[in-house]
Amino acid sequence: MTGPAFVAHCLARLREYGRTAYLGERVSITEHMLQAAHAAERAGAPPALVAAALLHDIAYVLHEPAADPGLDVGHAALGGRLLAPRFGPAVSEPVRLHVAAKRYLCAVEPGYRAALSPASVRTLAAQGGPLTDAEAREFEASPHAADAVRLRRWDEAAKVIGAPVPDVDHYRPLLEALLRRPEPA
Ligand code: FE
Repeated sequence: MTGPAFVAHCLARLREYGRTAYLGERVSITEHMLQAAHAAERAGAPPALVAAALLHDIAYVLHEPAADPGLDVGHAALGGRLLAPRFGPAVSEPVRLHVAAKRYLCAVEPGYRAALSPASVRTLAAQGGPLTDAEAREFEASPHAADAVRLRRWDEAAKVIGAPVPDVDHYRPLLEALLRRPEPA
């Protein structure tokens, strides 16, 4: 699949499958991902981080069924692997690290855990619970840790019923401009 075909495939899955798929939250996967991207845009995030926000749960969108319990733990790593060859680390690393960022914030930020949605609390234990001190220092050492934390905050807030957001196709030019060139073999 070429880069533009990959982008078209992701957007088609968001338009179709993701509109009716849920992760135990009150909004569909597509609404959730569009709200995260919109929050990144409103915050003035660079294009790569807007793309990461839009695509952070792409593993659920490309791999049915979304309810696969194993994906709770692996969806960040799988998403990172799907995106890295297409877009490079500024997009794929915040995606890969967005579950670690939740575990990090639970460890270092008083009150963060109490503000999680019920579904996010349920998955926390399966994801390994809060990071230990050593794990938190290791997380902070990643060059993409700060972006992953920003993404995590937009992720957690992107669960509002009926919030107005741009349509899926609004992001096509941004995604196509971020594709790696030349394309990986
Ligand atoms: Fe999410």
